[in-house]
Amino acid sequence: MRHPLVLSLALAVSMPSVAAQTSSTAGRTAEPAFDLVIANGRAVDPETGLDAVRSIGIRAGRIVAISRTPLRGRSTIEAAGLVVAPGFIDLHAHGKDLAAARMQAFDGVTTALELEAGTLPVGVAYDQIAKEGRPINYGFSASWLFARIAEKEGREPDGDLAFFQKAQSLKGWQHTLATPEETARILARIERGLAEGALGIGVLAGYAPGHGRKEAFEVARLAAKHQVPTFTHARYSSVIEPESSFEGLAEIVSLAASTGAQMHINHLNSVSSRDIPRIAMMLKGAQERGLRVTTEAYPYGAGSTVVGAELFRGNWRERRGGAVAGDIELAGKPLDDATLAEAQEKTPGAWVVAHFLRPDRNPADQAFLDESVLMPGGAIASDAMPWTTSAGEPVPGDLWPLPADAIAHPRSAGTFTRFLRDYVRERRKVTLLEGLSRMSLIPARILEGSVPQMKAKGRVQVGKDADLVVFDLATVSDRATFARPNQTAVGMRHVVVNGTPIIREGELVREALPGRPIRRK
Ligand SMILES: [Zn+2]
Repeated sequence: MRHPLVLSLALAVSMPSVAAQTSSTAGRTAEPAFDLVIANGRAVDPETGLDAVRSIGIRAGRIVAISRTPLRGRSTIEAAGLVVAPGFIDLHAHGKDLAAARMQAFDGVTTALELEAGTLPVGVAYDQIAKEGRPINYGFSASWLFARIAEKEGREPDGDLAFFQKAQSLKGWQHTLATPEETARILARIERGLAEGALGIGVLAGYAPGHGRKEAFEVARLAAKHQVPTFTHARYSSVIEPESSFEGLAEIVSLAASTGAQMHINHLNSVSSRDIPRIAMMLKGAQERGLRVTTEAYPYGAGSTVVGAELFRGNWRERRGGAVAGDIELAGKPLDDATLAEAQEKTPGAWVVAHFLRPDRNPADQAFLDESVLMPGGAIASDAMPWTTSAGEPVPGDLWPLPADAIAHPRSAGTFTRFLRDYVRERRKVTLLEGLSRMSLIPARILEGSVPQMKAKGRVQVGKDADLVVFDLATVSDRATFARPNQTAVGMRHVVVNGTPIIREGELVREALPGRPIRRK
């Protein structure tokens, strides 16, 4: 029997056209009820627990039917033997160019949000992307650090992450306190960003570890006042006290408790490294007592950031828990103390890869990484980076495939498929349903209290946005490696954004740009 809702929708849409056709073109079949049908896939919805063969009818960018019986659409994707799941929602994506969006699309990402760094001016950043068009949905938080650099250095941000890279050669913003007047102006800039629709406040605290506790408190109070989350790269990256990662995360717990703000912790894996057992205990304790503290992690034991970052200064190797020379790489080449110092002096804004755990060499490190990645209630988020040429220049415009020498941390191409392959299929650390939840429903829920659009994302349900991935669970996999990052993930047979396929039969639909802004106003 047909699902009653499907029947009524099908009738509502097709009847007028049937009537029109019978008068002129008798005998032709009725207009299909759906723009697109994804037929006979294993539909999995983390919220309702649905895990069954269904056909999905899509119209005007939304899921309008989920049926046990066949549906007829203007276009059909045959999904027998494939999983049909909510598209992945990435709360932490720095690469905002077309190149980054396409690489993430192959990883199953349908919404990529720059929430950790954020940006300013927020309206400028949204307008720029809207002008160019994107295959996947996009959005920003308002950047506390951009505001701080602007006030401390007298430079105006332009809505681009390059502003942060260029600021690495300036020294007035990392370790200085803000006066009450400066703090007020920093907050005013953030507030302007929120008024322009930012999704929360991005707090790159770890890049300016010397900022005042009172300033951090005012930023959290501002988030609470506007009822938006903060997204924090915590202060300090160290297993050694004082100024340890534990201390940086304890600060977030304290701010959430004292202000009531919802506070999200970015990349729990890299910030906690080998201190995760104790840090997880602290965060679980905070959550059990009702604090609104959430987490995310990516399934790699190496991070990526600017070589000039504060975390690579002083006795940083010791503070990171015994990283050895060679564990930091610039354009694929290991840096020793001398070449690191040279790069910090000459090109402080250049992107590097830095290993903080060695799961490839050390089983204990794999266990530490697993504990961060599998933190109860935690999201998977990529921290995806912009793609550059080997000379460090951004990969420009509409180039596909990316130039052979294009480079970025492999998480920029493989976070979600790696998690599916390693944690769901191979090592079976989580069920498919839980794995999908961490990549779709959980990030949607982290945002939906303040961003109503997110209530329609992360679900395979009638009435929700048709952001969907159709993949082969037996073969889905990352391919990007540290040595060869420029390799798309495999196994995403189809990726649909707002009802439009952007990947079809495993191939990029180059002209498809259905991505929309995720924005509060
Ligand atoms: Zn970060």
